[in-house]
Amino acid sequence: MIEYENLGLLNKPFFEEFKAAFAATLESGWYILGNKVKEFETTYAQYHGSKHFLGLANGLDALTLSLRAFNFAPGDEVIVPSNTYIATILSVVECGLKPVLVEPDIHTYNIDPAQIEAAITPRTRAIIVVHLYGKSCEMDKIVAIKEKHNLVLIEDCAQSHAATFKGQLTGTFGEFGAFSFYPTKNLGALGDAGGLLCNDDALATTIRRLRNYGSDVKYYNELVGMNSRLDEIQAAFLLVKLQHLAQITEHKRALAAIYQEGIKSDFIKPVVHPDYFDVFHIYNVRHERRDELKQYLLDNGVKTDIHYPLPPDRQKAMQGIIAAQPYPISAEIHRTTLSLPCSYYHTKADIEQVVAVINKF
Ligand SMILES: *Cc1c(COP(=O)(O)O)cnc(C)c1O
Repeated sequence: MIEYENLGLLNKPFFEEFKAAFAATLESGWYILGNKVKEFETTYAQYHGSKHFLGLANGLDALTLSLRAFNFAPGDEVIVPSNTYIATILSVVECGLKPVLVEPDIHTYNIDPAQIEAAITPRTRAIIVVHLYGKSCEMDKIVAIKEKHNLVLIEDCAQSHAATFKGQLTGTFGEFGAFSFYPTKNLGALGDAGGLLCNDDALATTIRRLRNYGSDVKYYNELVGMNSRLDEIQAAFLLVKLQHLAQITEHKRALAAIYQEGIKSDFIKPVVHPDYFDVFHIYNVRHERRDELKQYLLDNGVKTDIHYPLPPDRQKAMQGIIAAQPYPISAEIHRTTLSLPCSYYHTKADIEQVVAVINKF
């Protein structure tokens, strides 16, 4: 059986380094906002050529705090893609703001820049783009819209560590790049972790306060904050993993290339274009008879996943929150998409076997 993912095997090559990092942190006696968090923040900011990275508890908090930093008025609108993981939209709702969904491009699965302007109203304050599956959005067009309408731009980079658009890393185009280091992500910790990339000193100070009860000087509270700190031990693990990110990325890209080359044209494969350096957090294909295909692959020893089975606008939790109108492109992607195994631990032989099996469907 070829599994879809196995986090133990994915992390196995790093076990010895993780153990050393754990031991060092344990012995340091400093478990919250210590040197490991500082070192990871500095290293991850430098990796992006950005001024600041603020470690936070998880990706959802990163998105939520990025919005909170601007003190938008209740009911202000935030544009989000209709085709995304629910967390993107939850962050908007959590801040008392109104999510306005914009449809994706059917080829890239990412927010369609051509449809953003029609969704802008006098109450629009921000756009959150999501670089889904590890492919950047069309950032030149999106930055132009942001500037023309004077909007805040936040990038949800939970799936796009190391991905670039025209040579520029995702997370560096807007006010904030919001990252998740959930264990399955391309840069994954061994528990929950996240953070925000930003270039602005004042915004960085606000986030530093918001994550720590509103305080950056102990016992003096400037803001009504929360507790959303990146854990010291997770920062130690992330420092190890970050050293291997290039190798993880290259491996996933090599596996994706085998699919891209080998899978028959009966299946709709991801588009590749020289402007985009894709990191394949997820390698998906689309097919009319997706559910049947998933079962066929399972019967033939290949486990798959679906990202995602039910679109945000059709989630029970979003009734009365998301405008009740059809989102046909998002619906079509959700109906037909299937994620194939593409983990750091999979071998080229694994992927060749998946190709052989899928081509006989
Ligand atoms: C994983 C993910 C998140 C949430 O990250 P957590 O760390 O699990 O809170 C947000 N957006 C997208 C697109 C994701 O894939």
